[in-house]
Amino acid sequence: METRTLILGAGAAGMMCAAHAGPGTLVVDHAKAPGEKIRISGGGRCNFTNLDIRFERFLGRNPHFHKSALSRYTQWDFIARVSEAGIAWHEKTLGQLFCDGSAKEIIAMLRADMERAGAQLWLSTEVKSVDHVDGRFVVTLLREGRQITCRAQNLVLATGGKSIPKMGATGLAYDIARQFGHEITETRPALVPLTFPGGRFKPLSGVATQARASCNDTSFDEALLFTHRGLSGPSILQISSYWREGDAVTLDLLPETDIAAILSEKRRSDGKKQIATELARHMPQRLVEHLAPDLGLVERLGNLSDARIAALSDALKAWAVTPGGSEGYRTAEVTLGGVATDAISSKTMESARRPGLYVIGEATDVTGWLGGYNFQWAWSSGWAAGQAIAEM
Ligand code: FAD
Repeated sequence: METRTLILGAGAAGMMCAAHAGPGTLVVDHAKAPGEKIRISGGGRCNFTNLDIRFERFLGRNPHFHKSALSRYTQWDFIARVSEAGIAWHEKTLGQLFCDGSAKEIIAMLRADMERAGAQLWLSTEVKSVDHVDGRFVVTLLREGRQITCRAQNLVLATGGKSIPKMGATGLAYDIARQFGHEITETRPALVPLTFPGGRFKPLSGVATQARASCNDTSFDEALLFTHRGLSGPSILQISSYWREGDAVTLDLLPETDIAAILSEKRRSDGKKQIATELARHMPQRLVEHLAPDLGLVERLGNLSDARIAALSDALKAWAVTPGGSEGYRTAEVTLGGVATDAISSKTMESARRPGLYVIGEATDVTGWLGGYNFQWAWSSGWAAGQAIAEM
């Protein structure tokens, strides 16, 4: 069979691209349903973009690559489309926008947009091989037990990254890009919980607190969650993108509090009170109890010297912990790294190595912060490729 444009992957980027790529578009996916990651995202409500998209909140070897697509198809464009589709949404925190109802509404909107554009969708379809012969991509597909050879002028790689293999994530985009001469930058799990050997934080499992997590000159002031495997919560997921094996993560457990000043004042006004009792006014009781033996918190405030107050403040505001690893692709929200962007047009997402080949979404070496940034990259890069293909 012949088609003008073949899109591999019916995820966020692939569906967005199909909605704009013009006639003769076929999208194939090996999953039974499109947009599975959209469905489970944001606790089922999909954090579909962020009001405060900033270029420096995306990581990749080329810190400028993503600017063009994000400037031409912005969060405001996607918000306008969502609103036009009648999907109610709200801002949760830090500019993060979620559906009031269900993430399924976003999938339905994208499916409807694809249908309106005349794009076909083949699910449960495997990609067996890809070739390029006489200026056409020749892709062998396996569908309902039948092998189908599809010839296409344009081939769009939209199969995402390696995170959550259980949901069908594969390295297919990397393999095909490599086949056509593209470099793949180092890939690693990102936006992922960090683990600690020996069940270090097991006794604190379930405790949540506000914290500032810092590593490699970057800090995130968000919630921190202790788990039986280590540390999680938004501040940790965010910092995991900057953390490398062997690095320590510094935790400020009282980011908004000048605890040294408070302890000095309480030593004067309430000297008989226990240090632990005062600390429990500022952080979770279970955390204080856990730290008490090591930090000598079962003592009266009146006994504290200036040096002890300084040392306590340091221990609580600059607690250096060294993760042994991360939970890996099993739970990572995204893959850091991907198809190197040096041989991709930032305007059209087309390959400089093989005309007609496009790479979009998470498959590229562009990774956003937690908070709607990764979906916005999928929408913007998918739109940029779709638009370019339609205008050809
Ligand atoms: P995907 O959405 O991953 O789509 C890739 C598609 O390709 C899939 O449909 C897959 O089945 C298909 N595919 C893969 N391999 C093959 C193959 N070999 N053959 C055929 N088809 C294949 N980002 C946010 O911005 N906000 C959030 O709230 C958010 N929450 C998330 C929650 C979770 C649990 C996870 C895992 C991720 C979350 N993300 C979130 C990240 C976001 O889901 C991704 O960045 C985004 O989906 C990437 O879009 P994509 O189209 O590039 O890839």
